Amino acid sequence: MRILIVEDEPRLQRNLVKALREEGYAVDAAGDGEDGLYKAEAFNYDAIILDVMLPRLDGWELLERLRKKKRTPVLMLTARDGHNDRVKGLDTGADDYLVKPFDLSELLARLRALIRRSTNQTSSKIEIRDVVLDTRARSALRGETPVVLTAREFAIIEYLAIHRGEVITRAEMYEHLFDENDDTLSNLLDVHIFSIRKKLGSEVIATRRGQGYCIE
Ligand code: CA
Repeated sequence: MRILIVEDEPRLQRNLVKALREEGYAVDAAGDGEDGLYKAEAFNYDAIILDVMLPRLDGWELLERLRKKKRTPVLMLTARDGHNDRVKGLDTGADDYLVKPFDLSELLARLRALIRRSTNQTSSKIEIRDVVLDTRARSALRGETPVVLTAREFAIIEYLAIHRGEVITRAEMYEHLFDENDDTLSNLLDVHIFSIRKKLGSEVIATRRGQGYCIE
């Protein structure tokens, strides 16, 4: 999952980027509304965390312009718990809100819920053959045995599982699983897939030669 954070307060932006990367998300950041809108339009993010008060273009304006083109799920960060702000957000097309200051654990929970809703998952557990992925705990079981996956490995299998039945191209996987700071060596994805198959069984992810990967 690749997330865009649009937040102008440098310390909060840094902390959010760090926390989300630790959870296995690929994360891009923008420090003003114009850069945020540019990135939101240029890439297909799985969700956007959007501050309301931003230089150059505020969060409402950004959201209004984005909604003319895209339905990317948006979690707004609002400084005031004002009723007007919430109504305005609903009208503009925000998907959820969090009032500053907030707990990081709450932000992470809201973000997971937002992504679950946008991908029509009803549960945080996903079964693939004898494997159970828990997207909330970010853990995996193979049969009864816990399997340790790296954050990146988990992100890859989670993305494929959410889009089960679809062939996901390598380009799409790079777009959703690696961020602007990642050094994308061309064989990196294959290395991760190899490692996931070794841990969870070779049949868990199918290769469609010349097309991409798929969970059937
Ligand atoms: Ca701000």
